[in-house]
Amino acid sequence: MTSTRPHVTRVTHVTYLTYLTYLTHLTHLTPCPLFLCLSLLLTAPALGASNTPLKALLFTGGCCHDYARQIPLLTSNINRQTPVQFEFAWSVDPLTNAAFAKNYDVIIYDLCFDNAKPGLLDNALQTLREGKPAVILHCGVHAFRYFNKVHDWENAIGMRSKVHDPYQPFGTEKLDAQSAILKDFPDHWRTKGDELYQTIELISDSHPLLKAKSPRDGREHTVCWTHLYGKGRVFATTLGHDMRTIEDPDYQRLVTRGLLWACGQP
Ligand SMILES: [Zn+2]
Repeated sequence: MTSTRPHVTRVTHVTYLTYLTYLTHLTHLTPCPLFLCLSLLLTAPALGASNTPLKALLFTGGCCHDYARQIPLLTSNINRQTPVQFEFAWSVDPLTNAAFAKNYDVIIYDLCFDNAKPGLLDNALQTLREGKPAVILHCGVHAFRYFNKVHDWENAIGMRSKVHDPYQPFGTEKLDAQSAILKDFPDHWRTKGDELYQTIELISDSHPLLKAKSPRDGREHTVCWTHLYGKGRVFATTLGHDMRTIEDPDYQRLVTRGLLWACGQP
């Protein structure tokens, strides 16, 4: 059986720059599964009901995105709003262990792997069904698109989407202004540039939060929603291709509030 921690490195109390340099170094070292554990010095959290840090396992890696830059920026800014201890998995291999999520409060999928080995997602979906919260970011919605059981993944995350508009600026509109997740989020937010994922189908019991109209053809697509899968709460957004969105404080707050909602915190 594959260990959930084939390689564990702990880094405590690092500066963002030191961490970024370290992370970049490690990602160039080896293609084998890699975990990096990080405890950031926390500033006074602004969001969340508890000062007890949530424990999050964040799956990342895959094609088409500069995760080595994106993940430190996003996670450090989440930590400025609410305390979260992140551990990072740079492959999906830990999913082969049925107990992969045992030590975490929430699982985050910010990755871009097109395929998966047979059975790989079974534990991820079972864990979610049993009530482990999940956060799906950007290409996590398009992940596993060539896997023969991709519909199982789509049914879990609450959306079917295969392609996106060309990278461009676009705006969003709220679909549930009363949602706690959208508190403080602008009524008419704009990204300086992102990939607008085209909605094929929002699974019927998903709850849409934000939509965006394509500047190219006027079609509207759901870009943020919540979903219940078994006992599991899912927060998802297709936003976040690169730094233009991820460095936006409104986006960082949206993801933080979504993560807290998934964990049952106001
Ligand atoms: Zn992308």
